[in-house]
Amino acid sequence: MIQFCNLYSGSSGNCTYVATDKTKILVDAGVSCNKIVKALNELDIELDDIDAIIITHEHSDHTKGLTTISKKYHIPVYANIKTWHMIDSLNVNDTCKFTFSSNQEFEIGDFKIYPFSIPHDAVDPCGFSMFAEDKKITIATDIGHITEGILHQMENSDILMLESNYDDETLKCGPYPYQLKKRIMSNDGHLSNEDAGKALAYLSKNNVSNIVLGHLSKENNFPELAYQTVYNEIDANGHICNLSVASRDFVDPMITL
Ligand SMILES: [Zn+2]
Ligand SMILES: [Zn+2]
Repeated sequence: MIQFCNLYSGSSGNCTYVATDKTKILVDAGVSCNKIVKALNELDIELDDIDAIIITHEHSDHTKGLTTISKKYHIPVYANIKTWHMIDSLNVNDTCKFTFSSNQEFEIGDFKIYPFSIPHDAVDPCGFSMFAEDKKITIATDIGHITEGILHQMENSDILMLESNYDDETLKCGPYPYQLKKRIMSNDGHLSNEDAGKALAYLSKNNVSNIVLGHLSKENNFPELAYQTVYNEIDANGHICNLSVASRDFVDPMITL
């Protein structure tokens, strides 16, 4: 049995729980240690039970909790070498530091994990495909644009969490300074609802059955708008599948495979 549960998602912090009966993993720790403990407790899980934390990239909405976690717990943290350099100041205990290489599979417990490079304004950002019990879970947020390679990487995922960061019009008309808008919309920024929808319409025809929209912007998006934009694309050009929006601050219902 594989479990997937979004604990926190969005520009204010990201943390996702993925587990088999034997191995419990958190993808990112971008909220405080306390908030992660609280969310896990809702699932009847202690932070001590977590076997590893794997880090997508250095931005604080993905790494904020690491300092306190490392002080209070002894949980292995995995990141690539360039990311480790960038988060040196978070003082993760040396004995908890583990390194993977981008685009090279590694193993934690009964998970095989493939970290694939994604375009984003971080030093060596990754998405993760996680394989166990003949199932595939892919988490890909903070993507400036979708490439052919990323699209293929996401095919055949039993659960796919893809970024649906902003609505074009809301961002353009919103209060952000011009430079920030440009950064978000750039090839190394974030993914719009529309671009997520186009990718997901294709993927819904390529064996992706459970889709979770993640990393929504607080200022430039609304959950209903993200859902509807993606739903319309899938309805027009793909196959209808399970579609949900990851909550910013609530533990979402567990998806079990
Ligand atoms: Zn980022
Ligand atoms: Zn982020």
